[in-house]
Amino acid sequence: MMKIKHSLVVPCFNEEGNVENFLREIREKFSNYPERYEIIFVNDGSRDATPKKLRQLVADTDDISITVINFSRNFGKEAAMYAGFTKARGEYVTVIDADLQQDPKYVLEMEAILDEDSDCDMVAAYQAQRHEGKFITFCKSSFYKVITKMSGIDFVSDASDFRTLRRSVVDTILALPEYHRFSKGIFSWVGYNTRTIPYEVRDRESGETKWNFKKLLRYAFEGIMAYTDAPLKLPFFFSAAMLILAVVMLVLTFCLGSAWIILAVALAVGSILSFSQGLLGAYVGKIHTEVKDRPIFIAKEILTNEHD
Ligand code: UDP
Ligand code: MG
Repeated sequence: MMKIKHSLVVPCFNEEGNVENFLREIREKFSNYPERYEIIFVNDGSRDATPKKLRQLVADTDDISITVINFSRNFGKEAAMYAGFTKARGEYVTVIDADLQQDPKYVLEMEAILDEDSDCDMVAAYQAQRHEGKFITFCKSSFYKVITKMSGIDFVSDASDFRTLRRSVVDTILALPEYHRFSKGIFSWVGYNTRTIPYEVRDRESGETKWNFKKLLRYAFEGIMAYTDAPLKLPFFFSAAMLILAVVMLVLTFCLGSAWIILAVALAVGSILSFSQGLLGAYVGKIHTEVKDRPIFIAKEILTNEHD
């Protein structure tokens, strides 16, 4: 059988209105593709008709290899990407969203770069123009600056999950067994030579984004927790600050004799202590889930249109 050159990994969560159009567009853009490629849809516990639609696509397609991994529940895009990687057989593997926001023409562009430059291991697309509020963009870029400083790993602010990886990178990522998968961290942590190309993000075809400010905040927190233990050392700085504060307060109370100042200090100290404890608790919580060594995803069903 002909070797597969390129695997497309497509995480899908409630994408009933998109998966058919997605396949249609891939067919169009890949119509002159000279080699064999495959599509791996990962249905991440969708609560709409996505699994039905995917089942139909598998049944109706015989010219492209299609695999569908049906999760037992929603495990998140990170887990969906990982699951896709476990099934991908291509020399190159691309992660692309199901919502058609990412034009498949860029996949061919990323592939051409890898074909041409054997020193390049991964090509990531970044949004040339962001279709989001200035405040969100500011928060995101500040976050990546902070986490780069704290972790010592180079996080590229703009690079998205929309990227093409060489087989060697995929195998390295598959060997990282952690449960809390912060993909931007993983893509940066593994190293390798990454090039970035700009892409024009399109509007969602159907359905809505799963991100809101609260989710982004949680994602940022997850990222920090997964890639640096610097916050655990914050109490050292707090204690130094408290010592200085204590001396200042002593002098102030001596001069002013105010009991209120002492109360304020007691409250401040209390809050700093409980903050430190909370931080410790959060890290212990992460250790707790990691030591349980649970699987990253549970596939209740795997469908394929290949019968050999
Ligand atoms: N996705 C997923 N699991 C989730 C959330 C999202 O597999 O829990 C998929 C989703 O179906 C889409 C991609 O990840 O294909 C990106 O999600 P979304 O479009 O909501 O993010 P945005 O493009 O707004 O950043
Ligand atoms: Mg999207």
